[in-house]
Amino acid sequence: MRFVLLGTGTSTGIPCVGCECDTCMSEDIKDKRLRTSLLIQSETTTVIIDTSADFRQQMLRHSVKHIDGIVYTHHHYDHISGFDDVRPFSFFGNNIPANVYLMPETLQNMKQVFSYAFDENVQVGGGLPNAAFTIIDDKSFTIGDIHIQPIPLKHGSLRVNGYRIGNVAYCTDTNHIPEESYELLKDLDILILDALRYTKHPTHFTIEQACIEAKKIQAKKTYFTHIAHQIRHKDCEDILPDYCYLGYDNLEFIID
Ligand SMILES: [Zn+2]
Ligand SMILES: [Zn+2]
Ligand SMILES: [Zn+2]
Repeated sequence: MRFVLLGTGTSTGIPCVGCECDTCMSEDIKDKRLRTSLLIQSETTTVIIDTSADFRQQMLRHSVKHIDGIVYTHHHYDHISGFDDVRPFSFFGNNIPANVYLMPETLQNMKQVFSYAFDENVQVGGGLPNAAFTIIDDKSFTIGDIHIQPIPLKHGSLRVNGYRIGNVAYCTDTNHIPEESYELLKDLDILILDALRYTKHPTHFTIEQACIEAKKIQAKKTYFTHIAHQIRHKDCEDILPDYCYLGYDNLEFIID
């Protein structure tokens, strides 16, 4: 199974428009962060977690020609805004709808944000995103041969989903892991975890808080994602404990 960090940036992307800080001006490729998303591929199945604001660019960059399932973590715009760009997958896939897996509240919000895609009376023009929605709860589900376990997390007061696929877990956009969710995070090879910046934030873990969680969860390796421009890759890597790493765009893991 192949996992690719398609984007590791917070909602603005890095560089941040108009900013001239050291990270935004950095030439280091690891300081260029598209919006947070994950690609999971088995021999037969391709799954994307979240359609980020950079979805189109991410699909082109990784030559993704077919998607078996799109799984949403939550409805924040940086995680859903690429939804309209699923259209080409239908043009080249005999208009087969994209299979989308999401919580009921995520669907409710998408119906507001993408109201045109749900309105039967709208003039079609350049086409509408064609999707079939499957509502998920806390139970595991399977897309092709990829088995996915939702992990309930808190993002401020908002319930979001992390996901576990085999011994890899993806927990973005969170600043609290409910006690019962630690059960679902045992014996991980890789944990991908939210770590926004050094200073406190109401809805994201700081680097320090994420290190504490990594120590508690004890995955073999923990990679941070959803990183803001206050974090310069080379400076931050130097101060992390040896079981924590800063994620970066296009980082790939192959796991048996
Ligand atoms: Zn986000
Ligand atoms: Zn900046
Ligand atoms: Zn969010």
